[in-house]
Amino acid sequence: MGYANEKLSEEKVFKDPVHRYVHVRDRVIWDLIGTKEFQRLRRIRQLGTTYLTFHGAEHSRFNHSLGVYEIVRRIVDDVFDGRPEWNREERLLSLCAALLHDLGHGPFSHSFEKVFDLDHEQFTQKIILGSTEVNHVLSKVSADFPKKVAEVIAKTYENKLVVSLISSQIDADRMDYLQRDAYFTGVSYGHFDMERILRVMRPREDQVVIKQSGMHAVEDYIMSRYQMYWQVYFHPVTRSAEVILTKILHRAKELYQNNYLFRYEPHHFYSLFEGNVSIDDYLKLDEAVILYYFQIWQEEQDPILSDLCQRFMDRNLFKYVEFDPAKEYRKHGELEALFIKAGIDPNYYLVVDSSSDLPYDFYRPGEEEERLPIHLLMPNGELRELSRESDIVDAISGKRRTDHKLYFPDDFLYDESTKRNIKRHIREILELPSQKS
Ligand code: CA
Repeated sequence: MGYANEKLSEEKVFKDPVHRYVHVRDRVIWDLIGTKEFQRLRRIRQLGTTYLTFHGAEHSRFNHSLGVYEIVRRIVDDVFDGRPEWNREERLLSLCAALLHDLGHGPFSHSFEKVFDLDHEQFTQKIILGSTEVNHVLSKVSADFPKKVAEVIAKTYENKLVVSLISSQIDADRMDYLQRDAYFTGVSYGHFDMERILRVMRPREDQVVIKQSGMHAVEDYIMSRYQMYWQVYFHPVTRSAEVILTKILHRAKELYQNNYLFRYEPHHFYSLFEGNVSIDDYLKLDEAVILYYFQIWQEEQDPILSDLCQRFMDRNLFKYVEFDPAKEYRKHGELEALFIKAGIDPNYYLVVDSSSDLPYDFYRPGEEEERLPIHLLMPNGELRELSRESDIVDAISGKRRTDHKLYFPDDFLYDESTKRNIKRHIREILELPSQKS
């Protein structure tokens, strides 16, 4: 019996607040969890700056990765096993891809990716294929196994059924994060009947389909995703923290490029600033490291860097107003000029942020973001695209909703040292009260 089929002498279980238990019988899975690259995910929060809005949201990508693994394990072991459409040989591959799908996430992923032009999916590939502990474990299964795992995660693997377990509009990734993020933020959205969905999932040649009798559970899932996006993921206060975080990174990079002398050398950032991050450098980054820099940068000479770091650490976030960039560009220009007059750099302190989401989309081939539709398996064996059967889903299908906000600090608008007419003028444009609330 090879390493691929090796079982632990006793099943290991992880207590989990969402799935109650995560079960591990396979030696390969157990060994992957023990690698340093996987353990690093404990030090990266699942929801970035969301903990500054919902204080419970401290859960890590480690939690979530175990959860996605557990959902896929239940699908392949309890639902698909023994069905002729399912090839049992793909079981271990599916489990490994589920466990490792987020391996390349860095600290505060979104801001880092934006500022330093990184891509966590590329890092996931590099960690799986590079000289790492994860690669060592996967290679023991077979020489081409790491490549297969990387392909499933990159959605290029030939068996699309396996790919769809981890990335489709109803996949284990989404089913885990919606429930987990709802649990840890404490909101009442995000709950749906996953047990029911798992029971009605069926393998098809190239996708997972849902028996028609499970349609209402899927509707609930789609609506909960919609609500989580607007109530949690795009929460304006979380975005304010993210705006500040992004500006800190921009500022540090700009200072470095201008040969600024940091009081404390930012060793961990050099390769980011220079745009040549190796896997080793990347794996040394986690949120503990980043917050350490934000902590010490509060004492930097540069007033912008130290101010932004203080704001982030003390949660003294930017305020926001609704903003329509298409119609209000003139207002933005006026504000910029007034900010400069007040001695405030608008590049760092006047920021437009936009969020946008497509709740569910049917298949429109050739479009930029091709999404596989969810198919219902009708009693006569036919497949029907979900929005054709469900009025609720049809109502929100293919409708992109976008929200723009203008972020700025409001303290200087109420500060004695700012010229009175400038303060008043800015407050008028932003429709702010004359007294700080
Ligand atoms: Ca994920």
